Amino acid sequence: MLNTAPLSLNNSHTLQQVVVTWPNNDIQTISHQRLRGACPCAKCRAARIQGKIALVDADVKLIAMNPMGYGLQMVFSDGHDRGIYPWSYLHELST
Ligand SMILES: [Zn+2]
Repeated sequence: MLNTAPLSLNNSHTLQQVVVTWPNNDIQTISHQRLRGACPCAKCRAARIQGKIALVDADVKLIAMNPMGYGLQMVFSDGHDRGIYPWSYLHELST
């Protein structure tokens, strides 16, 4: 498990994915839709438990990533900005 910040973060609006390079040189690609669907805020966690994950728009885009020290706050095109993704959580997400 990685608890340190990545070496680099590259948000591609064209490909709708984020490419993360970790300190151990692991390169991870995560789609915007996957990130939105995995939002760790309390509201989204509750929605997933209730099986409402399908509400994520396939065309959702990640607009901004704001460093918060232990992770990233992500702002999405559907107006949602409540999720803060700790580094270790981000590293566990697959495409
Ligand atoms: Zn959320």
